[in-house]
Amino acid sequence: MLKDDCLFCKIIKGEIPSAKVYEDEKMLVFKDIEPKAAVHLLAVAKDHFKLLADMNAGQAETLKYMLEKIPQIAAQNGCENGFRLVINQGEDAGQTVFHLHIHILGGQKLPWE
Ligand code: 5GP
Ligand code: ZN
Repeated sequence: MLKDDCLFCKIIKGEIPSAKVYEDEKMLVFKDIEPKAAVHLLAVAKDHFKLLADMNAGQAETLKYMLEKIPQIAAQNGCENGFRLVINQGEDAGQTVFHLHIHILGGQKLPWE
């Protein structure tokens, strides 16, 4: 289910434009508007949920599906040498959009500090 007041649900519905790189019935992958690496993609489930802690069994299945798909999507979009996944959860992590999303970072040697 999508939520009317959620930024990423609006992107999924096409109400807000995005640079899409992959889409199927379960997930959408698009470019982050403020990239933190040479390649910075966001993978979102089409079923809105906020946090890993809120996830139901079906949403966990979707997350598994996304994790299985991501290596190929990353490789096809400039991360053939590797990539990093980040899922920010809550305030201390600096989460700003409360629709679960996976950051895909790569296209360069990534610092680890
Ligand atoms: P968070 O901080 O919640 O983990 O990540 C949210 C991400 O969404 C940030 O990296 C931010 O740059 C990105 N973002 C925020 N608004 C938009 C938007 O309208 N379009 C796109 N493509 N990315 C966005
Ligand atoms: Zn949403």
